[in-house]
Amino acid sequence: MNYDNVDFGTYFKNYPDKEGFFGKYGGAYISEDLKKAMEEISEAYFTICKSSKFISELRRIRREFQGRPTPISHLERLSTKLGNVQLYVKREDLNHTGAHKLNHCMGEALLAKYMGKKKVIAETGAGQHGVALATAAAYFGLECDIYMGAVDIKKQAPNVARMKILGANVVEVTEGLATLKEAVDAAFKAYSREYKDCIYCIGSVLGPHPFPVMVRDFQSVVGIEAREQFIEMTGELPDAVVACVGGGSNAMGMFSGFLNDPVDIYGVEPLGKGTKLGDHAASLKYGTEGIMHGFNSIMLKDENGEPAPVYSVASGLDYPSSGPEHAFLQDLGRVKYDVISDDEAVDAFFTLSRLEGIIPAIESSHAVAYGMKLAKEMKRGSILINLSGRGDKDMDYIIEKYGIK
Ligand SMILES: *Cc1c(COP(=O)(O)O)cnc(C)c1O
Repeated sequence: MNYDNVDFGTYFKNYPDKEGFFGKYGGAYISEDLKKAMEEISEAYFTICKSSKFISELRRIRREFQGRPTPISHLERLSTKLGNVQLYVKREDLNHTGAHKLNHCMGEALLAKYMGKKKVIAETGAGQHGVALATAAAYFGLECDIYMGAVDIKKQAPNVARMKILGANVVEVTEGLATLKEAVDAAFKAYSREYKDCIYCIGSVLGPHPFPVMVRDFQSVVGIEAREQFIEMTGELPDAVVACVGGGSNAMGMFSGFLNDPVDIYGVEPLGKGTKLGDHAASLKYGTEGIMHGFNSIMLKDENGEPAPVYSVASGLDYPSSGPEHAFLQDLGRVKYDVISDDEAVDAFFTLSRLEGIIPAIESSHAVAYGMKLAKEMKRGSILINLSGRGDKDMDYIIEKYGIK
């Protein structure tokens, strides 16, 4: 892998630039109204993120409410089974609410509080982002509107119940196909109406500037902790780091800790049922440059140039694009993006459960499956995998569809 053509010692200073560009990717392609709102968020964030009060409050919340730092676990039995390479996982499944998403939701909601906003709004597909944001809103005493397609509301009843118990207002969207895309449109529309009183909280390193950089900064706690813990545990750096990529927030959090190290970095996208358009959601691997949802990145397009339909067994990974910073890191050759199929992810889901007593989220199982493949190729060394979440939410579906393996 190439560590040399960009000075990663100054990377975070130079990228993104003031307009939110990572090379040609990123930016803010939005209406004038929304631009004003985003500029307000940018100004507040880039001021507040340097204030010791904000930093120490976020640190306290991480420790006392989220249960951070999350540990690293050595996968001894799995490593032995695969050969000589030692596998480790960063346990974001043990972060409060069971996944990494709360890392950026607590940051976004704390920012809302500092900005004097009364409400946070967002869209959700499978409901994971909605639950994390509803949790953050409850903690800070903010109102919370979550836009969700009518079809998803039916499919994701437990997460809808969680959001309601946490006091969020789940707004049903019935337009079009009544799924995630329509929910995004409805939430953006509501935001242009209400931006004086609320902020929009994006669920990954996506959307217009400043969200890709802000969400990455909030998630970087994962990589910072992991680097320190790994060195303390083993006396050295891992040889490789692996994370799954939907929008790319858990991956950017982990990767940001290792960009300036001689460590190979792998992002894993969902191959779903195969390479045909519509059967997967591997945008970085098979997509082309394009603008959607307010930013320029690599995306999967249909014959009209519109975002293509995507599929993965992991609903948290089925998005037709990825964060602009991932597109940039791929072009630089600093991160290698590869794919794992539904079947390989399901195998890893059962393998990690059986051999290690950890039931991983089906999203995270993609990273575990890739780590297992890599272990066989590498023959020696160590691999650190980001276990982005726990698999309780996936158990019923996997047993119904695949049986007990
Ligand atoms: C949402 C989710 C993902 C995908 O989101 P990223 O922004 O790509 O990290 C991955 N794993 C889990 C457990 C999730 O809930």
